[in-house]
Amino acid sequence: MAEPLFRRLALLGIGLIGSSVARIAKERGDIAAEVVANARTPATLERVRQLGIADRVEADPAAAVAGADCVMLCAPVGAFAALAEAIAPHLAPGAILTDVGSTKQSVIRDVGPLVPAGVHFVPAHPLAGTEYSGPDAGFTTLFENRWCLLTPPPGTDEDAVEKIAELWRRCGAMVETMEPAHHDRVLAIVSHLPHLIAFTICGTADDLEDESRQEVLQFAATGFRDFTRIAASDPVMWRDVFLNNREALLEMLARFMEDAQAMARAVRWGDAAYIEDKIMRGRRIRRSLIELKQA
Ligand code: NAP
Repeated sequence: MAEPLFRRLALLGIGLIGSSVARIAKERGDIAAEVVANARTPATLERVRQLGIADRVEADPAAAVAGADCVMLCAPVGAFAALAEAIAPHLAPGAILTDVGSTKQSVIRDVGPLVPAGVHFVPAHPLAGTEYSGPDAGFTTLFENRWCLLTPPPGTDEDAVEKIAELWRRCGAMVETMEPAHHDRVLAIVSHLPHLIAFTICGTADDLEDESRQEVLQFAATGFRDFTRIAASDPVMWRDVFLNNREALLEMLARFMEDAQAMARAVRWGDAAYIEDKIMRGRRIRRSLIELKQA
């Protein structure tokens, strides 16, 4: 077995993502010699103790990061500023501070200025998830063959970046570095907008009069059913993602609404060729995803 990358890894937030990292670290043994977990509520802390997925559980984030050579923020992105403020004075010199947040410019904006001199800041985002949350939701294969995007600010220590890249490779992920604004635009279209549409369509169905709503549930075919899976995701996490990727999300939404209008026009005027062409494009995209093993 390779040497552990870190002596002590502190996970601040131990839901789907944090608990998956903890489980992998425990199973492999070459990520960190010790894993410390922190969460907001006593119930989650107690559950983590029962599950035995961390070596130590700390209710206080400052105590959790003390002496850690890697600290990973795994809470909703809206909580990062307060968390960073609480831990900044307690970060060990030379430690790496990283995160898994779904938005990257906001994390750099909120956390970056609070990082003490001598601590390396390597923002990251594993592109893997399910609609489940909490410490029971994590599993060791979550990141396998998924991408993890790193968005280190210019001038970040290269060894620190490489250590975080290696951490994610040991979690099974493929790693790429990306500029944060670009990350936020790409994620707005591949993840944030689809979630927004799923939440919205479920709301639309729920607003229907009683009789039709009943039928939506009873006869939910794959189309609506697939949307409900995405719409079952954690409300706090997604609220924070929308509010912290506002510009890119609104831009993609505006483009989407224009295209949806064009589709509506084609339906109204019976433009069969237009409709067929759009459906064909959808099929081609699906086929490419399958070929890239990202389906
Ligand atoms: P989750 O399952 O809901 O877990 C969130 C964790 O953060 C819980 O342990 C929670 O503790 C803790 N927490 C919540 N509010 C906090 C606060 N104010 N201060 C400190 N800790 C707090 O969430 P997740 O799905 O793992 O997502 C975590 C992060 O990963 C988010 O930033 C998200 O954007 C990112 N991400 C998510 C996905 C996905 O698909 N789910 C994919 C990639 C990245 P309590 O249980 O005690 O409240």
